[in-house]
Amino acid sequence: MNLVFLGPPGAGKGTQAKRLSQELGLLHISTGDLLREAVRNKTDLGLKAKEYMDRGELVPDDLIIAMIEEVLPEGGGVIFDGFPRTIAQARALDDLLQKKGLTLNAVIYFEVDDEKVVERLSGRRVCKTCGAVYHVKFNPPKEDEICDKCGSPLIQREDDKEEVVRNRLRVYRDQTAPLIDYYRQKSLLYTVDASKDIDQVYSSLREVIDAKERN
Ligand code: ADP
Ligand code: AMP
Repeated sequence: MNLVFLGPPGAGKGTQAKRLSQELGLLHISTGDLLREAVRNKTDLGLKAKEYMDRGELVPDDLIIAMIEEVLPEGGGVIFDGFPRTIAQARALDDLLQKKGLTLNAVIYFEVDDEKVVERLSGRRVCKTCGAVYHVKFNPPKEDEICDKCGSPLIQREDDKEEVVRNRLRVYRDQTAPLIDYYRQKSLLYTVDASKDIDQVYSSLREVIDAKERN
């Protein structure tokens, strides 16, 4: 199965993708995580991507598409999280899947309003070392500011600060939200109410996926 998780930043795509990929044995491809790793390692891609990410802008399509080509496994079995983010990326994904004889089975749209998104992003904390994601209120670590999984300190992402968040929401509305119609027209769009709590969202997601698997 190949899935796309679509929705605004902070909708909970990564949180759900981690859980679903483990339960279904799918590969979780988060372009945001891959880019942050490239920035940390100061690779060519990382050096080019950093300025866009710091401003909350999208990294240019050609860089993103080349990155996806590199990590997509031959046999598929992938959750794309945070990709595609533009119509050009969506078309490139269609071509790439077709070339490999793979199909996109469903696009899950995480629907949630801006107010919730801001609340979630402002309380998001991530582990410096292993990348685990927490929320100060909705998904707190057992010990304050310390990762449950590896014991490292938790930090706030620079682009989760308020000014950058506002720009990311604008960018989402202008460049990414048009994908909702793009995939609806292809009859691939399934909407999940992402404003509920983490377990409730996971149940709705499973209902969609389980129904897909039965067909
Ligand atoms: P995205 O990958 O869509 O940017 P994340 O999965 O990183 O979003 O979630 C954003 C923040 O909101 C994180 O701090 C996460 O712990 C929290 N979160 C995720 N899903 C929910 C939910 N259903 N209810 C409340 N908080 C959530
Ligand atoms: P995310 O972790 O998904 O919130 O992404 C963090 C940042 O990485 C975004 O604000 C963009 O600058 C960049 N990014 C992630 N995925 C993409 C993508 N598919 N296209 C362009 N830029 C991306």
